[in-house]
Amino acid sequence: MSSGQPFGTFFLPGPTEVHPTVLQAMTRPMIAHRGKDFEALFARLQRGMRDVFRTARPILISSSSATGLMEASVRCAPAGPVLAVVNGAFSERFAHIARSCERDTDVLEVPLGRAVDPDELRRRVKQKRYAAVTLVHSETSTGALSDVRAATRVCRDSGALCLVDSVTGVAGVPLFFDEWEMDFALTGSQKALALPPGLALGVASAEYMQTAGAAKGRGLYFDLVEFESYAAKNQTPNTPVIPLFYALDVQLERIAAEGMEARWARHRAMAEQTWKWVDDAARRTGLPLRVLSPDGERSLTVSAVTLPPGVTGPQMAAAVRERGFVIGSGYGKLRETTFRIGHMGDHTPDRLALCLDACEEALVALTK
Ligand SMILES: *Cc1c(COP(=O)(O)O)cnc(C)c1O
Repeated sequence: MSSGQPFGTFFLPGPTEVHPTVLQAMTRPMIAHRGKDFEALFARLQRGMRDVFRTARPILISSSSATGLMEASVRCAPAGPVLAVVNGAFSERFAHIARSCERDTDVLEVPLGRAVDPDELRRRVKQKRYAAVTLVHSETSTGALSDVRAATRVCRDSGALCLVDSVTGVAGVPLFFDEWEMDFALTGSQKALALPPGLALGVASAEYMQTAGAAKGRGLYFDLVEFESYAAKNQTPNTPVIPLFYALDVQLERIAAEGMEARWARHRAMAEQTWKWVDDAARRTGLPLRVLSPDGERSLTVSAVTLPPGVTGPQMAAAVRERGFVIGSGYGKLRETTFRIGHMGDHTPDRLALCLDACEEALVALTK
């Protein structure tokens, strides 16, 4: 790491720690983005990312942060009202995007820490004809994981497209775009893919793309129709962030070497290790610690843990920092009352164990 710390100390839930080999790839010389070398690079990224998203559809690669593709998915969705499922800060952002794109937007409010209940969703989409439903797969602000397969099915039955933000899902939590018959899913480079920030990657179904062509006011930079037609030529509509394409190229080789199933299993192991530590640490210290999300609704990439009274999220993050590890404070409404550990990307159970030790030491020191 550039700060001189060993790899395996930066457990922020985004951006995540980037392996030195991947960082190194970004220093390669530039190439023309309308040349053969770029087209070969783009084709490799397509192949690699299709395995990550489990799809045969083109991968839409945007030189923007993940929010760019969130906005694109709304702009290019067919005309009509949007239902935004809100169970945290990032799903709230999706609702905000829909409103700022002048969509008639309703909200299905879900308690913080909880996943989307497919039955509740079914009741809502039956009440009104929605063009699209927005939801977040892994809500990074709360650590809740929603069943996007079930949600997609419910939306489809009602005739609405299901737009899924899987920014901390894809590459850490299983997602099968084609098999689950998803309409749209997106991720960002700086979460479970463990790249620096700056790239958004998405997939749209053929059905979604058919209607996108008729959507009015799509704008230019985030027009998914443009992304798809350029992808057919192994190009991007405008100058891409080439250093991040190099980094993704190297990272996809590393992901393929590990294998997606093994990658998901490693994420599950780190999540279970974190949940177990919370229970054990609560017992050892007598502090009222708990994973915010209930069992069965927890993300495999990020955990939000409730803090004892008198300790705030920023205090906790600072105390852990003094012990050589970076974690996140709470986020949004949970900033003061929780802390978050990003156990995703290229992290390992061995290094996570050291981070959890540091967290426990910090908790003991802060509550003395
Ligand atoms: C990080 C994150 C985003 C935002 O990504 P940016 O790259 O900052 O635009 C959106 N949704 C979720 C669930 C995230 O974790």
